Amino acid sequence: MTVLGFAAAPPRKTPPDIFLVTIDTLRADHIHCYGYADIQTPALDSLAKEGARFAQAFTPSPLTNSSHTSVLTGLLPSSHGVNDFGVPLLETHPTLAELLKGKGYHTAAFIGAVVLDSKTLAPGLDRGFDFYDNFPPNSQTKSHWDRLERRGEVVIRHALTWLTAHPTGPHFVWVHLYDPHDPYEPPAPYSRTYKDRLYDGEIAYADSALAKFITYLKARGWYDNSLVIAVGDHGEGLGEHKEETHGIFLYDATTHVPLIVKAPRSKIAGKVIAAQVRTTDILPTVLDLVGISAPDTLQGKSLAPYFDGSETKDRTVFGETDYPLRFGWSPLRSVRADGQKLIEAPRPELYDLRADPGEVKNVYAAESDSIKSLRAMMAELPSPTSSATLPDPKDKIEQQNLLHRAMMATQDNRPEQARQALEQVLQLDGKSSLALRQLGEVELQIGEDVKAVEHLRRGHETSPDDPAIAFLLGQALKRTQDLDGARTVLEESLKANPNEPLARLLLGNIYLDLKNFDAAADQFESVLLVQPESVEAQLGIAKALIRKNDFAGAARGLEDLTKSQPNNAEGFELLAQAYRGLGKTQAAQQAEAKAKVLRK
Ligand SMILES: [Zn+2]
Repeated sequence: MTVLGFAAAPPRKTPPDIFLVTIDTLRADHIHCYGYADIQTPALDSLAKEGARFAQAFTPSPLTNSSHTSVLTGLLPSSHGVNDFGVPLLETHPTLAELLKGKGYHTAAFIGAVVLDSKTLAPGLDRGFDFYDNFPPNSQTKSHWDRLERRGEVVIRHALTWLTAHPTGPHFVWVHLYDPHDPYEPPAPYSRTYKDRLYDGEIAYADSALAKFITYLKARGWYDNSLVIAVGDHGEGLGEHKEETHGIFLYDATTHVPLIVKAPRSKIAGKVIAAQVRTTDILPTVLDLVGISAPDTLQGKSLAPYFDGSETKDRTVFGETDYPLRFGWSPLRSVRADGQKLIEAPRPELYDLRADPGEVKNVYAAESDSIKSLRAMMAELPSPTSSATLPDPKDKIEQQNLLHRAMMATQDNRPEQARQALEQVLQLDGKSSLALRQLGEVELQIGEDVKAVEHLRRGHETSPDDPAIAFLLGQALKRTQDLDGARTVLEESLKANPNEPLARLLLGNIYLDLKNFDAAADQFESVLLVQPESVEAQLGIAKALIRKNDFAGAARGLEDLTKSQPNNAEGFELLAQAYRGLGKTQAAQQAEAKAKVLRK
């Protein structure tokens, strides 16, 4: 165990509390103590005064899920495997929470965005946490607040409520402040103070939420003996290299993050460490400082030797992003060492960071010695290559900015703005199936069915194998009463992608409209084979049976269904029809009455 960094206090019986604060989308160079004079970040500044500030810390990933998973596992994305939203973290990779819980820690996590929700977009990230503050499922609110995102104050309030209810330590509490992520909408007074720099306003606001957290820890008397780590999960492009947000590129704009470590009863107060380090070093540092032996598979190393100066050298930084694959573009890999950065891309890049810290002058030359040595370092990565056959993200970044804007607008119920951005993508690339699909969705959402058909048909022509486009086109055609067209598209798509229950349900309903009741029943039966509980499929079968005058068969199925789904009004309505067909007038009236009550 490294004891460096601790004051010569008598040996303590209780291990220190550990508070990990991750601030989303936080560029190091937009924080006051990192030299940005135009912002007030007093909480981060005082944490840096009481701890050690790493001036050159880097995340291996510019994507929220991947980068947080790296912090919580000490592994690179290509090792922990969480390279996109929704990818589960495998149980073979122990998490910081698990390791600390195993040593008697009480563990809790408070997240500020649904992208880290362990029930939906971040499965497995809750492993080891006694409490993980997921978002309420099926939120009905249209606003993005409390459905997609929580304000920093709300996150902190949840954390303080939990801490107050669970005062027995030692604690490991992870708090995630999402505010600086776009859209930039700081509350007052930050919206006024930073009205022309709303991103900075969000950072200043997040800092004020952090201040509330620290004030609480001090009031409880927990602060001095605690290990507090504040870190950014990634930065923000802000237009550098034409990237507005983050996720696609591996330049410093989105990978250089603040990292501040306040050790218990620290002797390292105010220390600034210039060496290049990694956010994968956080987990080994925590284990080192509390005396837990680290798993030997880790790709990070304890930062404690920097505290007393026994280590001063730069550590090799790797960068990885598979996010471009989402759009059909090449993934990127990078290595940052010896004052240089090599980015492996279809058109590789090399930057001399001392002469060119902004990474604007690509000095890549295939046969140079430094390229060879950087490539040799990169061979350590499990998946060291980019793809030569896919487009270079450098050629696509303007499209990505627009697609991102459209996605945010759609999530936030602003279809007009989504449509505008998507039409601009199509001006850049008329065959972008991503844009055509999203545009079709937007038109469907606002009831422009004919326009939806137009875009989706073009998308379907460009990407005939994309089941999502085929499904949407089927929906749009059905709405425009082109039932035969819808049937053809869905049948062909289901031949290539048979396991698409939503498309099958839609096709079943189209067969009902076409009065082909046997074919409808076949589709619904197929859905039940993979989803035996599907209510819609059971209702579909009942409808087909009623239309074929098989009232007894329909009633049997519906009696079961209305027992298991006693609040399903449509089930009772269909049951009433079946009873009427059977001449059971009184039972039909009862079912109708029940349906009426449920409809209210
Ligand atoms: Zn993030």
